Amino acid sequence: MEFKKNDRVTVTIEDMGSDGEGIGKVDGFALFIKDAVIGDQVEAKIIKSKKHYAYARLEKVLQPSPFRVEPECAYHRQCGGCQLQALSYSEQLHFKEQKIRNHLIRIGGFDAEYIDERMQSIVGMEEPFHYRNKAQYPIGTDRDGNVITGFYAGRTHTIIANTNCALGASENQQILETILSYMHKNKVTAYDEVTGKGLVRHVLIRKGFTSGQLMVCLVINKKMTKMSYPTAGVQKNTNEFLPNQGELLATLAEIQGMTSVSVSINTEKTNVIMGTEIHNLWGESTIEDTIHVRDMQKENYPYTGDALTFKISPLSFYQVNPVQTEKLYSLALEYAGLTGKETVWDLYCGIGTISLFLAGKAKKVCGVEIIPQAIDDARENAKRNHIENAEFFVGKAEEVLPEFYEKATAEASSDEMLHPDVIVVDPPRKGCDDACLNTMLRMQPERIVYVSCDSATLARDLKILCDGGYEIRKVRGVDQFGMTVHVETVVLLSQQKPDDYINVTIELDDMDITSAETKASHR
Ligand code: SAH
Repeated sequence: MEFKKNDRVTVTIEDMGSDGEGIGKVDGFALFIKDAVIGDQVEAKIIKSKKHYAYARLEKVLQPSPFRVEPECAYHRQCGGCQLQALSYSEQLHFKEQKIRNHLIRIGGFDAEYIDERMQSIVGMEEPFHYRNKAQYPIGTDRDGNVITGFYAGRTHTIIANTNCALGASENQQILETILSYMHKNKVTAYDEVTGKGLVRHVLIRKGFTSGQLMVCLVINKKMTKMSYPTAGVQKNTNEFLPNQGELLATLAEIQGMTSVSVSINTEKTNVIMGTEIHNLWGESTIEDTIHVRDMQKENYPYTGDALTFKISPLSFYQVNPVQTEKLYSLALEYAGLTGKETVWDLYCGIGTISLFLAGKAKKVCGVEIIPQAIDDARENAKRNHIENAEFFVGKAEEVLPEFYEKATAEASSDEMLHPDVIVVDPPRKGCDDACLNTMLRMQPERIVYVSCDSATLARDLKILCDGGYEIRKVRGVDQFGMTVHVETVVLLSQQKPDDYINVTIELDDMDITSAETKASHR
């Protein structure tokens, strides 16, 4: 069986790939169809045909799947942001659990039974829309020369005009409309990626969900050569970065919750959105947010009463879904199993959010992060939250950890961080470097908590850790990104293999021994 381009086929979708594409089969020949959901019967047109499979475009849903729902956003098919809006939320969660499971089995090489015994049910969202606390909108021009903003169409830089993204904060629309009408009225130009001309490139909006504070940062293509600044970084500036700047600031200031307005200078021809030079034009230079600890063992994950407060600047890394972040960190904390006596490494620590969560329940925490500014924020956040048992190191985890290990070993140091009780890792999508994993194995922590935003690289790394003597104890997905195919996973590994232990309880009456000896573990 072979298909040609533009052939039309009728097919039932039986599975979904890890990028959310529907998968159906015609005479054993696999078809990958974007926007088709599991259970649909569809008509599709072949776009590209290979020897054993083909890509096809969804033309018509002939028989909708019981899991198909009406998408919230009219642009969900063109926009690159959401892949699963047409799938019911409960089925999205099921899809994500299967994705994690499949990766662990296929890439990690673990038995299905082994994984199923250890997998806990995914932590879903109560409100899977409007959950993002951060949005970066490109500013451009439409065919008629009007200034527009929205999102890039999938894999392109063509802007689809839309100020009301279904995942963003509800205030985004008012902020964007305010900026567009100011630009229109004052003939402010949008940046053109091809010519490198035009002023406004992007608008960054951040919201502190618990504080209600809003931050707006306009990324502009303008060098202010005549100005000199006493120090680098954020500073109050009354210069005119934008024409009729006062008018824009006054209208933005009227929006409920507005706390900070700034510009970021980016004159480079680059896909990098933010420039590193930030000038505060109105209000504060940061906004605040609070993350509460939750009890992940209980239904609906109630608050425990502990909380941490963070300051966020335009350039800080901060998790984009604050409600689910509380659950993610609380789960990492639960898996770390801290009693107050433990030493902990937190690798890839960002602004120290997980480190500080752990510090409250540990003896000592050391965080490692590659971005120096993030470490500045981490130290600042520790102070703000009166945490004194957290120490932070700038550098690559795969360099800082081995260097620390080699040095401490060579000096026969008794540093308690040499053999920590727990190592937590939260790497970017590419996962952990081998040098980092190998040093972790040499340090022999009692427990490893792996927080991952890509279950494929997670599976690859877990295989290395398990080959090195660790055992997966628990796996749990946390949905941080409803409507998209992305999922966070938290895994607890421990050094002891539970199967090697037999727990023996001896009745006190029968033997003359102290109570401390009544529960013994035997190999
Ligand atoms: N745990 C933090 C950040 C997780 S994102 C939080 O939850 O907020 C991953 C972090 O790893 C980013 O801050 C990134 O800058 C950092 N990073 C990327 N590569 C790294 C490396 N090789 N070594 C250390 N940190 C790295």
